Amino acid sequence: MAVRNIRQMGDGILNKKCREIKAVTPRIQELIDDMLETMYEANGVGLAAPQVGVLKRVVVVDIGDGPIVLINPRLMESSGEQTGEEACLSVPGKYGIVTRPMHVKIEAWDEDMQRMELEGDELLARAFCHEIEHLDGHMYVEKVEDGLHEAVYEEEDE
Ligand code: ZN
Repeated sequence: MAVRNIRQMGDGILNKKCREIKAVTPRIQELIDDMLETMYEANGVGLAAPQVGVLKRVVVVDIGDGPIVLINPRLMESSGEQTGEEACLSVPGKYGIVTRPMHVKIEAWDEDMQRMELEGDELLARAFCHEIEHLDGHMYVEKVEDGLHEAVYEEEDE
C-alpha cells in the first residue's frame, strides 16, 4: 500500500467524468487499498478516485465507523435536508456551508462485485453525496452558500 498524491482544486482531472468498473482487478484492489491509506493519512472522511488522479468510479468513506468501499455508487433516494459545514481533501484549509439531503439510499458494488444497498443519515449522507459527485467531475465548492471560509483551529486556553 502507498499514500498517493491528492490532486488539488484547479487540476482538470477533478472536473472529468469517471468510468465504471467492470471487475476488481489486482490494479483496482491496489487503488482501493491506496485510497484508504491516503484518506486516513490525510484525516479525511472520504476520498474519490479522481482525487488521486484515477478516472474510475471508486469511493472510500469512513466517518469513524470503519471503512466503506463503494464501486460504481449511485444515489437511489434522498429525503430531508441538512445545512452544514463541508470540506474536501482537494481544497485544503477551507470549508463551506452546503445543504444536502438528511437521508440517502445508495446502491454500489463491493470489492467482490456484489451489489449492495446502503442508507446513510447526517454526516454519512453528506459524505456519500459529496464523494459520488466527484465521480461526475463535481466539487462541493459549486454548492457553497456564502463562499469558502478559512478553516481556523481555535487554540486551547492555557
Ligand atoms: Zn471532496
